[in-house]
Amino acid sequence: MAQSNETEASMTGVSQRRRPKKNILEIGGRRLDPSTLMMGYGYDPALSEGALKPPIFLTSTFAFESAAAGKRHFEFVTGARSGEVEGLVYSRFNGPDQEILEDRLSIWDGAEDALTFSSGMSAIATLLLTHVRPGDTIVHSAPLYAATETLIGKVLGRMGIEWLDFPAGASQPEIEDVLRRAGDRRVPLIFLESPSNPTNTLVDIEAVRAACDTVFPTDRPLIAIDNTFLGPLWQKPLEHGADLVVYSLTKYVGGHSDLVAGAVIGSSAAIAPVRATRNTIGTITDPHSAWMLLRSLETLELRMSRAGENAAKVCDMLRSHPKVESVGYLGFLAEGSSQADIYRRHCTGAGSTFSLYLKGGEAEAFAFLDALRIAKLAVSLGGTETLASHPAAMTHLSVPPARKAALNITNNLVRISIGIENADDLIADFTQALAAS
Ligand SMILES: *Cc1c(COP(=O)(O)O)cnc(C)c1O
Repeated sequence: MAQSNETEASMTGVSQRRRPKKNILEIGGRRLDPSTLMMGYGYDPALSEGALKPPIFLTSTFAFESAAAGKRHFEFVTGARSGEVEGLVYSRFNGPDQEILEDRLSIWDGAEDALTFSSGMSAIATLLLTHVRPGDTIVHSAPLYAATETLIGKVLGRMGIEWLDFPAGASQPEIEDVLRRAGDRRVPLIFLESPSNPTNTLVDIEAVRAACDTVFPTDRPLIAIDNTFLGPLWQKPLEHGADLVVYSLTKYVGGHSDLVAGAVIGSSAAIAPVRATRNTIGTITDPHSAWMLLRSLETLELRMSRAGENAAKVCDMLRSHPKVESVGYLGFLAEGSSQADIYRRHCTGAGSTFSLYLKGGEAEAFAFLDALRIAKLAVSLGGTETLASHPAAMTHLSVPPARKAALNITNNLVRISIGIENADDLIADFTQALAAS
């Protein structure tokens, strides 16, 4: 790894991790594209015996060059010295594979810094734990990923933390009304998820930021957003007023349905307190998963682009099929609707995860699912392979009937995540499965 550079770290007060000196971000005034940077950014082979790829650093602790260096490293870790740790100390805090991964992840969202975690949920939990205290109110868009709702409503609820929510498609005045309802209670954080699962409703991040600036002219709450469904390729929330972006890297970023991990991404100032919590509780991703994610990032743009193109073709076929009632796909938003307006301002692609409403009920949906031959029957999304599931009977089984109805989680709903197979093969599979439904 790179040599330490104490002077720079203490002068800038920002994250001074051990970046290799030869990092190239632009050539001849041309800023390099993230897809190019994924092949080498943040790693210098000369620091690892010339290995083209970073080794997996399986070690729990790191040897100091001297006692003075060890003291300096601990001054950074404990915050006694400003900035971030300049050398590696102990694997609960950080490791080379995780550092390289975090450098590369930051690039996609145009952020200064990133942290990786053992799961999407441990990323969200570490972020919330950093900012909330008894008596606070968390404001969030609804619906949220079920485990996030459980974490906020049940786990944090037991600790005297309350929540208020607004529907994902809400306008600025509607969001302002909800923010005002917090009254005297402190609102440390607004948590968004867009598009929401399984309704695929977009949150207007710019409206959330404007509402926040209006209601809290001083001491504005942080705005964090779960960008798992469209990020990091098709939606960049930091450009629209969010402070922190959260990922389940398990989905599109990992992309091969073979690991579980998460991330929180943002400015150095917004990341620093979350890093301190992660250092304390040890929710960091492991070196092996970090290495797998580095491999995944090299093909991120290829995989997501192909999955997005496939989804557009499959949805086109599904939309006009006689056995299909409707398709909840971001590429089909009604012209002139507020959702289409948010899409135009925030998104550069419609993703590859959508809702399919079949004609009929559970029997027809199950017959369709059981007849699929290429698509696999499994929850999760964003992998190379196409997956299909039945939210009402699976991920949302325990949701009360009234809330299910409000969220349009009906018995004829099938959730689909399109992979990178051949689009015509997928169309053939869906066509034969619809015939069986
Ligand atoms: C999967 C998912 C999570 C949780 O991520 P894990 O990696 O399973 O912990 C959070 N948010 C969204 C939107 C997800 O799809």
